[in-house]
Amino acid sequence: MTAPSGFSAPADAPASAAPPFVEIVEVGPRDGLQNDPTLIDTGVKLEFIARLIDAGVRRLEAASFVNPKLVPAMADGDAVMAGVPRDRGVTYIGLALNERGLRRAIDAGCDEVNFVMVASEGFGKANQNATPEETADLLERIAVLAHDANIPLSATISVAFGDPFDGEVDPARVAALARRAAAAGVMEIALGDTIGVASPWDVRATVAAVQAAAPGPRLRLHFHNTRNTALANVYAAVEAGVRVIDASAGGIGGCPFAPRATGNVATEDVVYMLQRGGIGTGIDLERMIETARWLETVALRHPIASMVARAGGFPSSRR
Ligand code: MG
Repeated sequence: MTAPSGFSAPADAPASAAPPFVEIVEVGPRDGLQNDPTLIDTGVKLEFIARLIDAGVRRLEAASFVNPKLVPAMADGDAVMAGVPRDRGVTYIGLALNERGLRRAIDAGCDEVNFVMVASEGFGKANQNATPEETADLLERIAVLAHDANIPLSATISVAFGDPFDGEVDPARVAALARRAAAAGVMEIALGDTIGVASPWDVRATVAAVQAAAPGPRLRLHFHNTRNTALANVYAAVEAGVRVIDASAGGIGGCPFAPRATGNVATEDVVYMLQRGGIGTGIDLERMIETARWLETVALRHPIASMVARAGGFPSSRR
């Protein structure tokens, strides 16, 4: 087919091939439920996890092992881990903020532990009463324990794109923390837009700074859709070479520092976008949409923030 005269393809048409696969880490059972106003019991959490696995999820954050008095929604982490299927090839991640949490996660049977560092003082003090440097010191101690226990360790650098108290976060500071995490031996570093303030251009700048400072560990990006930029940020991350993305079914979750805010970027929204770009995730879009609708109507019984769960996937031909 010839182009109409006077029309030609742009000279700078993209030459880079799309990546064939992006791994989704489903964080609904932890980040989603931890910040949801509805408290659900262990059995419903296990049904949620079973539905996620049926939809194709193979790596998921199952629980956090933090102070149950401060985070009652995660008090049953041990029971959740005792009930998850172990014969489906799923990797379960437990979140920890300190040595005690790491030991609890290991004892509960988690396959990986994710430790949370902070990129800025204000959030660090409010969330875990530690400075960024103190969280890096703690990571170094935890990495020794994780290594001795032969358990893979990742580190999330939270508020990597902005802090609810201090405002701007310098990419150089995030990069310096990533360098320390890499030196401690983590296998993966996640950059968390904890309060959902990042733009795609911030993502490009901070990812580039971290890639230069810490080229060893895999990079994972964690976005919240607080200001409707999460999906654009996923795109920017993938364009920057990131191949692991956190997402939560139905976009559930929230932010303790923005009470009316929406949650994590919705898994089905991410899967839809990537699928239309020819990028595999291993996740069945229709089943993920069903799971999101189940959350809305059965498990949580309140509206969810996902767009694709509402609209459905790409229309198939009915002729
Ligand atoms: Mg989060």
